[in-house]
Amino acid sequence: MCKIQHIRVDLMHVGIIGLGKMGFSMAQNLLDKGQHVTGFDISSEARKLAQESGVPVAENLEALVKAQPDWVVLSLPKAEHVEEVCLGPASLRSLGLQANAVIDMSTSVPEASRRVASGLQDINVAFADAPVSGGPSGAREGTMISLVGCAEDTYRDLTPLLDIMTSRHMWLGDVGSGNVAKLCNNLLVGLNLIAVSEAVNIATSEGLSPEALIQALNLGSGRSAVSEINFPRWILDQSYDSGFTAGLMRKDLQLVEELVGQGVADHPLSKLALSIWHESQNDLPDQRDFNEIVRTTAGSPFSEIEPN
Ligand code: NAD
Repeated sequence: MCKIQHIRVDLMHVGIIGLGKMGFSMAQNLLDKGQHVTGFDISSEARKLAQESGVPVAENLEALVKAQPDWVVLSLPKAEHVEEVCLGPASLRSLGLQANAVIDMSTSVPEASRRVASGLQDINVAFADAPVSGGPSGAREGTMISLVGCAEDTYRDLTPLLDIMTSRHMWLGDVGSGNVAKLCNNLLVGLNLIAVSEAVNIATSEGLSPEALIQALNLGSGRSAVSEINFPRWILDQSYDSGFTAGLMRKDLQLVEELVGQGVADHPLSKLALSIWHESQNDLPDQRDFNEIVRTTAGSPFSEIEPN
């Protein structure tokens, strides 16, 4: 249930909880576009960095609640952090947040989204799961894509904010459905990185260059976002600086597996994706860029070259 009476589209006050790679960039974008922002992060280092870059920061969650933002955006690592911030002992619920809605832009668990939405009803605050794609650069530029799950009237009310933060957003249905769609998307990205990488390894063993193969794939029906964006932007030049870590991809594939575990059908490719990503853990620690998975595949021309 949304308790909005007057939605101000000219100036919005947005609380952002989680000032990591994504949340910090979202804050900068909103400030650039003339909106009022109050940020908070549990890490004093993240708060300091944000403050030094001109993002107004609350010292704790209570101060953020007292600042009375119209909207609260979450950009937190995992579902457990979202539940803690929204419903835990010192949380938005216990502190009596008065806002139109909490918009969770973390990639989270659909069931956790439903629990949080239900818990926030106690304080009459609406909730949307609105996980995003586009990385820190998309967050900074306001060109993310967001997949949204919430009540239809909440989505309508959120649209002016989503228009500032994203280039495209899509309403998929009730709370939880944004995360279902996002996890399916990331399953395909996780699998596709390995699939395109294998194609590159096969082609280079036959004497083609990775650059030539990627160009050829992008002319044909085998092309994908991985061949059109990831390889040209982060892999061929070995920059590996997308801002999305291997640890986050492993988290998402684990969540897909948990969704699959609730159903009756077998989904062998999702299991394979999870096992390949887990088995690469020694060669590719969680904090490294997720595109570096290509370097762990057999016969990769990139395995011996150190990232730039
Ligand atoms: P990050 O680790 O850089 O940032 C998360 C921040 O949350 C950290 O600064 C951490 O200190 C803070 N935090 C943790 N617990 C907190 C709490 N209880 N209260 C306040 N702050 C807390 O992660 P990120 O890369 O910014 O990703 C955030 C979310 O966005 C994740 O769910 C991720 O899956 C998703 N995502 C990331 C990308 C990307 O390219 N990085 C892209 C799409 C989606």
